[in-house]
Amino acid sequence: MLKVDKFGGSSCADAAQFAKVKSIVAADPERRVVVVSAPGKRFQTDHKITDLLYLCAAHIKYGVGCEDIFDMIRGRYNDIARNCGLSLDLNPEFDALWEKIQGGVSKDEIASRGEYFSAKLMAAYLGFDFLDAALWVKFRFDGSVDQDASYEALRQAASGRAVVIPGFYGVMPDGHIKTFTRGGSDITGALAAAALDADVYENWTDVSGILMADPRIVKDPAPISHVTYNELRELSYVGAQVLHEGAVYPVREKHIPLNIRNTNDPAHPGTLIMESIDDAADKSDTFITGIAGKKGFSIITIAKTSLSSEHGILLQIMEVLEKHRVNVEFILSGIDTVSLMVSAAEVSSRLYEVLGELQRKLKPNSITVAEHIAIVAAVGRKMAYRLGTSGKLFATLGEHGVNVRMITQGPDELNIIVGVEETDFENAIRVLYNSFVKEN
Ligand code: ASP
Repeated sequence: MLKVDKFGGSSCADAAQFAKVKSIVAADPERRVVVVSAPGKRFQTDHKITDLLYLCAAHIKYGVGCEDIFDMIRGRYNDIARNCGLSLDLNPEFDALWEKIQGGVSKDEIASRGEYFSAKLMAAYLGFDFLDAALWVKFRFDGSVDQDASYEALRQAASGRAVVIPGFYGVMPDGHIKTFTRGGSDITGALAAAALDADVYENWTDVSGILMADPRIVKDPAPISHVTYNELRELSYVGAQVLHEGAVYPVREKHIPLNIRNTNDPAHPGTLIMESIDDAADKSDTFITGIAGKKGFSIITIAKTSLSSEHGILLQIMEVLEKHRVNVEFILSGIDTVSLMVSAAEVSSRLYEVLGELQRKLKPNSITVAEHIAIVAAVGRKMAYRLGTSGKLFATLGEHGVNVRMITQGPDELNIIVGVEETDFENAIRVLYNSFVKEN
């Protein structure tokens, strides 16, 4: 058995957090491959090392001195080393980096050093080998990861060893360092788990898993215990802030479960994300996995007598929207009407051109636009084929005065999505949570 464990910035913020990581890793001999982020914030007003490194890079770009910031960064690592009782001295490497910076170093290379030094310290602290991501995370010139080459390189480099790998960066074919987008250590962890065919990818953060609803809207939402990769996609599509696609795809592709856990509460099982779930084993009695949503939509409704029997009319509509580069998120049609839900940000500057063109092409009876629409989605694999779910959902919204402007359900019945006025958005999420999760 092999577990690949990625620890985020808050888990690496200082020596006390390093100690928690050590006890988590030591508790399970299967945790032999550890991926770390750069130290994050220790307290609310603190700075993330990566932000400081980007700040250094900006100073250098404009020829402004940044020795103070550089020393602040060096100080953070020296504090961790000292407080962890490590004899490892990173100062020579910091001196060399400072020298190199004077000669000109790319922004990516500077930013990558946050993870690099973090991994150096963590490896010394855990008694594992340091394994540089530049040795195996291989980018192509177009910026994508060459998975086959990367996996092969990691399999060779990590074979039979316990290693700590810095997240967030890799190497271009010409040898230059390249970083992923922000938060990219999650991707490194997923690539490592996939390369090594791990039994599980454990992603340690400072929350006990993915929450069933946004905590800024619902008070103390429960964490999701089990969720499928499909449900997760639905939730993130409608606005839930979860891992980004690049951090999920490599493990999903290999059917490796992803477990999101809390470094500050290691006894909590967190959220387990899997390809499929045996629901007999899932004891929770609520059939909604999560509720999410987002604001910022408009609904364009085109009415024309016998519209549904007119050949090619949808194609004509889509051609107009495509021409103006407006993506249709949802499409609903009736006998005489078709409604298109589009992003308000995408359509707003072109709305009158789009409407004018639709008018000329289709000669409809009317076109109406409803603005300031939000979508709210209840997602749950256990909802499928369950009688009365949508009835209960609409009744609940109706009882609480939420006016439903649109309804759609995916063909796999994994979700029910409703469009509501933006002013009803928070209320809709709260009442659905209270009725489907709390009162269950
Ligand atoms: N340290 C990087 C960032 O702050 C990458 C990561 O933590 O995943 O974005």
